[in-house]
Amino acid sequence: VGIDQYVNLKHTYIKLPKSLFSVQAPSKVPEPRLVLFNRHLADSLGLDKAFLQSQEGIQFLAGNKAPREAIAQAYAGHQFGYFTMLGDGRAILLGEYQAKDKEVYDIQLKGAGRTPYSRGGDGKAALGPMLREYIISEGMHALGIPTTRSLAVITTGEKVIREEALEGARLTRIAKSHIRVGTFQYVARWGTVKELKALADYTLTRHFKEGMNEENPYFYLLKRVIERQAILIAKWQLVGFVHGVMNTDNMAISGETIDYGPCAFMDSYDLKTVFSSIDEYGRYAYENQPPIAAWNLARFAETLVPILHADREEAIRLAEIALSDFRQLYSKNWYEGMRAKLGLVHKKEEDKNLIQELLKLMEKYKADYTNTFLNLTINNREGMDWFKNEDFKKWYTMWQKRLDEQRECKEVIKRLMEANNPMVIPRNHRVEEALEAAAEQKDYSVIKALLEAITAPYDYTKYNAYYTTLPEKTENKYKTYC
Ligand code: AMP
Ligand code: MG
Ligand code: MG
Repeated sequence: VGIDQYVNLKHTYIKLPKSLFSVQAPSKVPEPRLVLFNRHLADSLGLDKAFLQSQEGIQFLAGNKAPREAIAQAYAGHQFGYFTMLGDGRAILLGEYQAKDKEVYDIQLKGAGRTPYSRGGDGKAALGPMLREYIISEGMHALGIPTTRSLAVITTGEKVIREEALEGARLTRIAKSHIRVGTFQYVARWGTVKELKALADYTLTRHFKEGMNEENPYFYLLKRVIERQAILIAKWQLVGFVHGVMNTDNMAISGETIDYGPCAFMDSYDLKTVFSSIDEYGRYAYENQPPIAAWNLARFAETLVPILHADREEAIRLAEIALSDFRQLYSKNWYEGMRAKLGLVHKKEEDKNLIQELLKLMEKYKADYTNTFLNLTINNREGMDWFKNEDFKKWYTMWQKRLDEQRECKEVIKRLMEANNPMVIPRNHRVEEALEAAAEQKDYSVIKALLEAITAPYDYTKYNAYYTTLPEKTENKYKTYC
């Protein structure tokens, strides 16, 4: 009561078949404190900043004052290739909010207590991982990559037991929706065709409204989802982002990056990069992200077969047609991005070779991915040790020759490169030091400075060497945890 007047939430998901969710209030927490609040996001959504930071607003962000219609969503998924029942085990959807831009966003609390889908879990979240999600998701957004956003982190005043007792926290996540490939898998496996249609129609209304008028809206849905993922994964690859748990339940139908568990950015260019401590066989290694996305999309296509066409053979044929687009869509987007990173304004077939040659050299010399492109952008030929090698010099001459062929003036080319080569990314060692200061010393100044830097990654006037400095060389590989 009262909150409605500040944050007007709608509840359309609960009109879907009952099997798709469970009404569930967040558990109450004793002592909520707001530790991070995203003013920019609140502003862009048209949310009431003063309210959200008030005592009553904090009760809302903590889940202590939640709408009666709050729910946990049901879904299934392939985890490392194995199909299983899942669902929100620790996340609760407060409702949907129509923002200033007329788009509808889910407001969800992560770490909000146990739900019917918690299995053995405690439903809680520790402060470190919630701060980490906040940092990386906001960094991703600033990099121009579709992603769920982070509105706030509150500490709960509760302890969370992991290997040790940690400070408990809740993250407010904003997403275009939380419908996943796994949501469709859940209905396809355990629901009726009618329920499947209801979910598909709901998804169309929410994300692909124009598709409702198509002759075959479900074929349209499939094609658009494939396209959005091709665009998304190309963007990940272009900045060296390794998601780390590309299970089908962690693939959003909206095309947003979701689930910031074990993700990290790669430093030196290595196709085999894996950070996740549980990804033993490198299933979700950097180079596998495009084929894994294609695999997940095939699982999505399978779920739609019953509604793609009345004739099963024909439905399968349609699914295959749509899926066969992925490779090409991905490759087109990736090459376009790479061309822009190298300042190539117009497309030329031979550019593919130029791009591949550079990547080969970067791999050979274990070159830092981000800093290589940064130094090419600012034309700092002393910027990296490996630039001294003869084979790089040869490549550089080839590249310069290609750039000289372009009619555009140097300024235009430089601006194109600046807009496509981030100066800063949330580097692992900088993220770690920020988390340590916040979670262990309750010093949020480090995290705030980091956030300021990574949320302006293309603004070359704000260059700050601190955030481009590489970690000291150690034997220990950077490891992440779910
Ligand atoms: P993830 O690997 O983050 O995609 O999580 C896989 C599943 O485990 C999802 O259904 C989560 O909601 C659930 N889960 C993760 N952590 C917890 C927790 N602490 N308590 C309950 N469920 C959890
Ligand atoms: Mg997940
Ligand atoms: Mg997770």
